[in-house]
Amino acid sequence: MSAQAARKITIQLRKGDQVKVMVGRDAGKSGRVLSVNPSKNTVVVEHANIIKRHTRPNPSKNIKGGIVEKEGPINISKVMMICASCGKHTRIGHKISPDGTKSRICRRCGNGLDK
Ligand SMILES: [Zn+2]
Repeated sequence: MSAQAARKITIQLRKGDQVKVMVGRDAGKSGRVLSVNPSKNTVVVEHANIIKRHTRPNPSKNIKGGIVEKEGPINISKVMMICASCGKHTRIGHKISPDGTKSRICRRCGNGLDK
């Protein structure tokens, strides 16, 4: 284990988390995290960063042509977790329980973010 290798940002968001988009075209929108990509530091959030894809029909794969709307990846620095307890966007803190388990907490109200 090398200390230098720890330059990578740890993504604290997880699939299913409720987040709010803070900047960009979809600022103010909120939704659930659909997927997390730790190597690119991006998350896909439902209803946010909708990209239109023009697809060609491919009858052998039963794909109809046309415009498909799909969520695109957003950099993690552009979204914030929404706390279920206080209802506000928050930074994620950590709490270590006496039994050694680590859990995520809301920095605003201190309540746990994990169910
Ligand atoms: Zn809170």
